[in-house]
Amino acid sequence: MNDRTKAQVTSGPCEACGAVAVEGREGCQRLFDEILGREFGDYRYGRVHRLTVDTYSLQHPEQYMRSGKSFVAHLTGMCAALETVEAMAINQAV
Ligand SMILES: [Zn+2]
Repeated sequence: MNDRTKAQVTSGPCEACGAVAVEGREGCQRLFDEILGREFGDYRYGRVHRLTVDTYSLQHPEQYMRSGKSFVAHLTGMCAALETVEAMAINQAV
């Protein structure tokens, strides 16, 4: 990859999820890390932490879903968070 191609890749959308204005896959990871830092630094985000991780993992399967078991766990976690108020109990059962 030459410098021009690399610059185009890193300044465009995330190659994995298509998010715009994140400076490519690396920028998307930095944004995710920043959000995780915020969640770990403020207990009020605790209720959405699992949903954050499940969503990001499903959007970036090449890095975060290396097995069918992982896929099912993230998909189930996301569904439980969005469809019920008992997500923690469902996730523990799964
Ligand atoms: Zn992404």
